[in-house]
Amino acid sequence: MTKAGNADSSSRFEDIPCPLCGSHSYGNFIEVRDRLVNPDVRTDIKPREKDFRIVTCSSCGFLYLNPRPAPDELPRYYDTQNYDPHRESGGGFLGSLFRFVRRFTIRWKAVKATGGRKGGMLLDVGCGTGEFMAYMQKCGWTATGIEYQSDAAEKARSWGCEVIIGDPADAKLEGNKYDLITLWHSLEHLPALNEAVDNLVRALKPGGSIALAVPNPVSLDAKFYKERWVAWDAPRHLYHFRKSDLQALFQPKGFSLRTAYPMPFDPFYHALLSELCWTSGLKRTILAFRGLLVGTASFILGGRIESASSVLYIFEES
Ligand SMILES: [Zn+2]
Repeated sequence: MTKAGNADSSSRFEDIPCPLCGSHSYGNFIEVRDRLVNPDVRTDIKPREKDFRIVTCSSCGFLYLNPRPAPDELPRYYDTQNYDPHRESGGGFLGSLFRFVRRFTIRWKAVKATGGRKGGMLLDVGCGTGEFMAYMQKCGWTATGIEYQSDAAEKARSWGCEVIIGDPADAKLEGNKYDLITLWHSLEHLPALNEAVDNLVRALKPGGSIALAVPNPVSLDAKFYKERWVAWDAPRHLYHFRKSDLQALFQPKGFSLRTAYPMPFDPFYHALLSELCWTSGLKRTILAFRGLLVGTASFILGGRIESASSVLYIFEES
């Protein structure tokens, strides 16, 4: 069994069959480190230890973390000041730039996910600190969130949104209630993938849409950075979806892919973090420039969905 970098000997891992097709047969795809663990060893670019294994299903080709921490072990891998999605953006030029990008991205997400629809019932899964829901409420939507992290959920509630704390697989959701369900980089975190999707699909009104954004494991930046690609993000990212994987997940539940868009800023985010999260000191400045170059190349060449850094997919009932 592959060991975890910050795991003590009592940590428990589980082997799982392919979450898409149920096959127990797989081959090794790549070995990666937890990028948030043990900053003291980040003195070289290449990971020294290869702590987690991503496998490829021999039957359908799906990429998933295997073995993975047992579900009750997973929360502690998020219990860190360094986990970026829950971190405050800080001051200075970079903080201002981050907030500008976040505001732009929230508006972009709202336009693409709603397809121009004005108002309705929204369920945001993995809502984090709730900025997307807050914007949607201003646009006339009634927003409910689901969030595993209670600190983030409390912040989200401060915007006036209802937030359910827990896993979407067992969240008590009213049936046929929501016009739109959004999952911004959250589907890849859900240990009970099929149960969660079934629960969400039940909560969607007939004719409703599911908008979900995930990193693309066959993107240009994934191929360039290999095991250093930040979006492998083991063991928080449990799955790595290509377009065909999402179709295999949603089609049996009666959904078809309506459209897809490359996420505009993810090439830069992925390239910069892939450069910077493994190292420290002066080298970071040089690596940041290289990250910007790779991000720009990925942004320009990632116009095709197949090679985009992250993709927003919109599914509707077929
Ligand atoms: Zn499979």
